[in-house]
Amino acid sequence: MTINNEVARRRTFAIISHPDAGKTTLTEKLLMYAGAIHIAGSVKARKASRHATSDWMEIEKQRGISVASSVMQMEYRGCVINLLDTPGHQDFSEDTYRVLTAVDAALMVIDAANGVETQTLRLLEVCRARNTPILTFINKMDREVRDPLDLIDEIERTLGMATAPFTWPVGMGRHFHGVYDLQQACMRVFQPGADRAGTDDEVITQLDDPAIQARFGENLAYAQQEIDLIKGASPEFDREAFLAGQQTPVFFGSAINNFGVREILDALVDLAPSPDSRQAMQREVRPNETKFSGVVFKIQANMNPAHRDRIAFARICSGQFKRGMSLRVVRSGKDVRTSTVVSFLSQRREILETAYPGDIIGIPNHGTLQLGDTLTEGEALQFTGLPFFAPEIFQTVEIADPLRSKQLKLGLTQLGEEGAIQVFRPHIGNTLLLGAVGALQFEVVTHRLKHEYGVPARIAPAKYQLARWVTSDDPRELQRFIEANAHRIAYDAVDAPTFLASFGAELSVAEENWKRIQFHKLREHA
Ligand code: GDP
Repeated sequence: MTINNEVARRRTFAIISHPDAGKTTLTEKLLMYAGAIHIAGSVKARKASRHATSDWMEIEKQRGISVASSVMQMEYRGCVINLLDTPGHQDFSEDTYRVLTAVDAALMVIDAANGVETQTLRLLEVCRARNTPILTFINKMDREVRDPLDLIDEIERTLGMATAPFTWPVGMGRHFHGVYDLQQACMRVFQPGADRAGTDDEVITQLDDPAIQARFGENLAYAQQEIDLIKGASPEFDREAFLAGQQTPVFFGSAINNFGVREILDALVDLAPSPDSRQAMQREVRPNETKFSGVVFKIQANMNPAHRDRIAFARICSGQFKRGMSLRVVRSGKDVRTSTVVSFLSQRREILETAYPGDIIGIPNHGTLQLGDTLTEGEALQFTGLPFFAPEIFQTVEIADPLRSKQLKLGLTQLGEEGAIQVFRPHIGNTLLLGAVGALQFEVVTHRLKHEYGVPARIAPAKYQLARWVTSDDPRELQRFIEANAHRIAYDAVDAPTFLASFGAELSVAEENWKRIQFHKLREHA
């Protein structure tokens, strides 16, 4: 098959949701359709282990599974669908955000009882910054939930995005009768049951048939009124607007009952984009170019702490990956061997023979690869857009034994390179500051400092609540700002100056007083 065909049949996406909205359940059902049940099992196992304990040691034991289930691949209707897991719950971290830079679309799962929740909003912000197309699945219609019109309204208001309902629920909870398909003008009747194949739904086309009206009663009448309203008020589905991240197709269903799930797979195949061109500093790179290129978006430390081996997750941006080919790390000019590159097709990591744009490959290494690295067959390309996110939680780090400070620095540098944590050096004073977006990261870092680097470190809450990278068109103005705010300035791993604040108001005041300084929530990999 030609590379054009392989690109055209790839779909790479991630699920964004708030904990408990149904991401795990939906993932399992999606995989079930594609016959990848053994992976679905591991998705569940992983979740169970997470819930059983919040102990970092346990999470570390699960790392093997977590690597295996962090990228899942399935085939559906001739398409190869890559589903990237976005770590949530306790292990919410910058990785969660960065995964979103490696996908071409996102599926937003919303609990119909709760509407749009905080974590969904945070993740969506990242998608919006990149204009990632979003599909929406409103889950748990088999429960007493909120009014669907109300939910649609909330999505439009809080996410600033138009909606295009593809299906509409008829009833809810005990009276959930199914969904009306606005595209096909028919109703698919709901039947509870977790293990249904989902292919044998009863389909009704004659909704005005008195027998049908009698069967579903006022729920159908109500739904029909709402559908008329929706048809009048919402614009039609507009693929351009969807691809630009301005309009989201909406589906209703119940993941646990495997209802509405196939529509999601169909939408991924029919609506979601295949891999597109990606911007490198030097030029735009088309996916169907013959030469390979890829970008590292995640680094995961491996099972064996003694060896400090890591797996770099790279997204293929162009060309074909062939096992054994030599890949150049553009930043360092070094080559990496690819004879042991792995895929994530099953619970066992498998050696990968070939892969195409949109696919994710795992490259074992001992530190040759860093976040944001571009890999090519030799061309000097650097992909842009791998962001670092302003930390939301800060801790100070100190060591009891000053003789270990070299090891501490080494450990923190390496953990920083993996993206596990961000390390800031204050403008005044010597106490290093650690920043992360999820609280578990601090536990991970102290544990690994002790066990992998032999540095028992003490961390304590810092007084800061938020950080913004600062830049200015005028270097002297930036210098004046730094001097005037010396006690609130720190430098990150690449020495970029950062403004730290204890309250949101402090940031507002600084923004008000320093009009020629720009405050950034994201820093792109340089
Ligand atoms: P995650 O945290 O987003 O991965 O959510 P899970 O998939 O683990 O689901 C959270 C809870 O909601 C679990 O108890 C599921 O059984 C339940 N759940 C998921 N989908 C549905 C659904 O369609 N209906 C109902 N009633 N419960 C659901």
